Amino acid sequence: QATLKSTGNDPYPDWKAGDPVPYAALCTTFSLVEMTTKRLIIMAYCSQFLQQVLRLTPGDLLPTVQLMINKLAADYAGIELGIGESLIMKAIGECTGRSLAVIKTDQHEIGDLGLVAAKSRSNQPTMFKPKALTVRGVHEGLLGIAKVSGHGSQDKKISGIKKLLSAADAATAGKGNKGVDITHNKGGPSEAKFIVRFLEGKLRLGLAERTVLVSLAQAIVSHEAALEGKKASPEKMAEGEQVLKTVYSELPSYEVIIPAMLEHGLFNLSKVCKLQPGVPLKPMLAKPTKSITEVLDRFEGKEFTCEYKYDGERAQIHFVAPSAIEQFPASTATLQRDDKGLSAIFSRNSEDLSKKYPDVLGKLDTWVKNDVTSFVLDCETVAWDTVNKKVLPFQQLMTRKRKDVKAEDVKVKVCVFAFDLLFFNGDPCVKKSLRERRELMHQCFQPVEGEFQFAQYGDTNVLDEIQDLLEESVKSSCEGLMVKMLDTDESGYEPSKRSRNWLKVKKDYLAGVGDSLDLVVLGAYYGRGKRTSVYGAFLLAAYNPNNDTYETICNIGTGFSEAVLEEFHKELKPMVIDRPKPFYSHSTVPKDQPDVWFEPRLVWEVKTADLTLSPRYQAAADEFEGTTGGGKGVSLRFPRFIKSRDDKKPEQATTTRAVAEMYRKQEAVAKETAGKRGVD
Ligand code: ATP
Repeated sequence: QATLKSTGNDPYPDWKAGDPVPYAALCTTFSLVEMTTKRLIIMAYCSQFLQQVLRLTPGDLLPTVQLMINKLAADYAGIELGIGESLIMKAIGECTGRSLAVIKTDQHEIGDLGLVAAKSRSNQPTMFKPKALTVRGVHEGLLGIAKVSGHGSQDKKISGIKKLLSAADAATAGKGNKGVDITHNKGGPSEAKFIVRFLEGKLRLGLAERTVLVSLAQAIVSHEAALEGKKASPEKMAEGEQVLKTVYSELPSYEVIIPAMLEHGLFNLSKVCKLQPGVPLKPMLAKPTKSITEVLDRFEGKEFTCEYKYDGERAQIHFVAPSAIEQFPASTATLQRDDKGLSAIFSRNSEDLSKKYPDVLGKLDTWVKNDVTSFVLDCETVAWDTVNKKVLPFQQLMTRKRKDVKAEDVKVKVCVFAFDLLFFNGDPCVKKSLRERRELMHQCFQPVEGEFQFAQYGDTNVLDEIQDLLEESVKSSCEGLMVKMLDTDESGYEPSKRSRNWLKVKKDYLAGVGDSLDLVVLGAYYGRGKRTSVYGAFLLAAYNPNNDTYETICNIGTGFSEAVLEEFHKELKPMVIDRPKPFYSHSTVPKDQPDVWFEPRLVWEVKTADLTLSPRYQAAADEFEGTTGGGKGVSLRFPRFIKSRDDKKPEQATTTRAVAEMYRKQEAVAKETAGKRGVD
């Protein structure tokens, strides 16, 4: 294993026990991580650094981990980062005494605001030596910036950024370009660089959240062993990683887990940290399938169920009755309270949707039978036609306001379709089989037409019957079926996992290319004819989590109404940036450039006729380098806009690996068909 020592330098010798964790120490670790792509080495750097935190300043472990994963709080806290480029440029200019024009020129040349900040800071003459930044101080400063809202918030944000930047690089600022190696596009351990990147929402270190989780487990295991004067065995390490991964998947909140781990030790964690109302777990996801026969092949000899796949919005509903509130201290911080107890609805992304659905939350008590004190239900909210008593298409649901909805003003009524029970009366149920969870749900809850219903299902493995269910589901405005394993260990609820035990069969798959794609909007072209005042076409990209880049995949101009184009123009205009971000992978041929580039924010669902390889786009280009001679990415032919995916973040867009897989599958099918034709 690589260690910090083995790199030949001791990056943070001045940090003594009890001192707050120096931000410079974290940035040194970041800088080491940035220099390699090898996961094991990255993990070793992180774990060594975290061990030092545990040894010297364990009280700072939480903000340290949060800064490492580029998040100030758990997702459900609703703390948004991703400050726009123009605001950051202004702050850099004001704090370093350089004009905005100069900063812009630098940004144009260097293309990375983090490096621009590092350069500006290192050239800035300093009158006095500012106090060195600490991890806790930076965390608090950033939190303050993220939380500012309302009147004058822009100025307050700028002043918050300036405060952090003027304290950054206390030791090296004003000493010229030393340490800021712009030519290598890295910039060294500059604090200013990492503060700016954090503000942008992308550290770009190739440090996945999961890697930090594993490094944390390794650090704790080593630290606990060291306290007993021992060295941790590889088996103990593996066990520790498993404990932390399982606990985190059920309770994805470092705010809850880290203090508990420091108090009770890692190996007691699963006793004290369990799934609980108030902390939304990451939902289980399904694998796409192309045909019912594929489902039958996968589930051969097993019992499974085919549920309707409702086309609405995922809703994880949490509830605690007044009598049980004391059992779940975490919930009081997150759930809203009224005289019926605590409750909240969380999205697929763990965003708190309670303000969007007060009408639903107001009726939770009418769904339950006697003696229900706490639950977490996994559901889909769907727009409901109260006259004809049926499900309405997804587009209707989208017309509902997202915030500050008053129950009495709601125009688009929703019905909640429950398909899983994850927690009930004080205990997690995720380890039970789906059959048991479903029975419990049906026993303890009661449907109320048009408000709360159980997802329709049929338990069958007969091809014709599944076909009938699929057709009925589509007639009922559903997208198709979710086919789920019913019994055995394989049917437990697997938080955050795209599992082979849940398969989705959408009606559309059966005809064309499998699933639709969720893509990030990177650029746009001005419209022609009637559309000159808006953007008429857009450049979209898939996400490559391996190197944290967005790789272009198609231009799209079909599927938009005039009204929708106007909406998008309004929404996208403030996201315009001067030049593509350094983490966009795109064609550099002049004629392929869009008229404007955007911050990577919006995610759109898109359908396509088929996929092809093209030098104009870069999606998954590295995967096909050998076959195409390089430079060609997968691209979509005849892409069509379906809907906005407000519930997905850009990092949750379709991955380039999934794109490559779709392309390969399509090619395999084409070959097979050609082969069959040959035989005929
Ligand atoms: P994914 O969530 O798989 O990335 P996605 O968000 O585009 O993709 P779909 O592929 O359409 O979603 O399918 C999964 C979604 O279907 C679930 O997240 C959930 O919101 C919805 N859904 C509707 N009915 C059910 C059901 N009976 N069981 C599970 N999920 C269902």
